[in-house]
Amino acid sequence: MNIHEYQAKELLKNYGVPVPDGRVAHNVDNAVAVAEGLGGDRWIVKAQIHAGGRGKGGGVKLASSLDDVRSLTDQMIGSHLVTPQTGKDGRLVQRVLIEQACDIQQEYYLGMIIDRASQRITVIASASGGMDIEEVARTSPEKVIHEAVDPAAGLMSFQCRKIAAKIGLKGKQIGEAAKLMQALYRAFRDKDALLAEINPLAIVNGGSLLAVDAKMNFDGNALYRRPQITELRDFDEEDPKEVEATGHGLNYIALDGNVGCIVNGAGLAMATMDAISFHGGKPANFLDVGGGASPEKVGNAFRIVLQDPNVKIILVNIFAGINRCDWIAEGLVQAMRDLEINVPIVVRLAGTNVELGGPILAASGFPFIMADNLDDAATRVMKTLEAQS
Ligand code: GDP
Ligand code: MN
Repeated sequence: MNIHEYQAKELLKNYGVPVPDGRVAHNVDNAVAVAEGLGGDRWIVKAQIHAGGRGKGGGVKLASSLDDVRSLTDQMIGSHLVTPQTGKDGRLVQRVLIEQACDIQQEYYLGMIIDRASQRITVIASASGGMDIEEVARTSPEKVIHEAVDPAAGLMSFQCRKIAAKIGLKGKQIGEAAKLMQALYRAFRDKDALLAEINPLAIVNGGSLLAVDAKMNFDGNALYRRPQITELRDFDEEDPKEVEATGHGLNYIALDGNVGCIVNGAGLAMATMDAISFHGGKPANFLDVGGGASPEKVGNAFRIVLQDPNVKIILVNIFAGINRCDWIAEGLVQAMRDLEINVPIVVRLAGTNVELGGPILAASGFPFIMADNLDDAATRVMKTLEAQS
């Protein structure tokens, strides 16, 4: 789960990471009042969306007067900000972060992730921070430093100093960076983060370190024990279909293909997507209806998959273990009766009571396309799509 920059900064500030003075604003008057309250004579107006690259898309602007704060906020709030990470439609900006501007002398990159290969929280740092870090990582990976953290010992002071020295920090900055890294590490570990990123980590006037930008992502599977983080969730930033699916106990992730998939079990869902891709198709979604797969769940799954206008065909692939194919078949027939389904449906059933499921579908009168196995199902999906076009 992602959170906004202003939320990440507030969280990190409480752990001792130095961040600029600032506050979020939801409208123009609010923004001007925040700037006035912060004082100073230059402010940064930053669009709050769950996507990076805002600097390049015009979502980070310097204001040299309160009038500037007003007009920049007015331009941003309500607009769709397009950045290299949003896709062409951009993201609706609903709030801005107003901060006191700082004079940046140097920009570094500091991040933490969970490295799956080593199964450790890993610190990533670079002297070449700022808006082109992705390019640096691609073209000169040697400029990016990695340091794995032993989970039993935690992030040690000597490691922080080593990283700080490697990216070229000097003197008192090394001690400051070490403290900052340990604060970031504590926040990361305490809150079950998957990613924390400070880019740029800046040296500002006077030579101190400041987290000018902050991004955090949390493990959705740990949210049940992190109510404080769960509260930061912004549903407006998420695909409404995914939000609805979560509410129905379905595990749905939207993708950009045209074959809707309704499957029980995450592994089977992955295998189904693989089979579709193998036959030259593109899945429109990942959808795991779970082990239970009651008729209600199947109905909800159809409703959500059909909200995607790109879906041209649906593949239902159910393996009934605890479940029973005859119940699934009844759920499918019910969904056909309840919903307006105008796309062909390919069904592959296997497992308990499979011999009862097929006849129920056949007797229903609905034009289900029956498949014998996964490969056959994917083949039929592609044949049907070809016949349509
Ligand atoms: P991103 O593009 O979405 O990653 O947004 P950032 O928060 O990283 O802002 C983009 C760039 O704006 C940063 O890399 C900085 O160079 C610049 N920037 C942000 N805040 C300030 C500030 O207070 N002063 C100055 N001089 N530059 C800033
Ligand atoms: Mn940034």
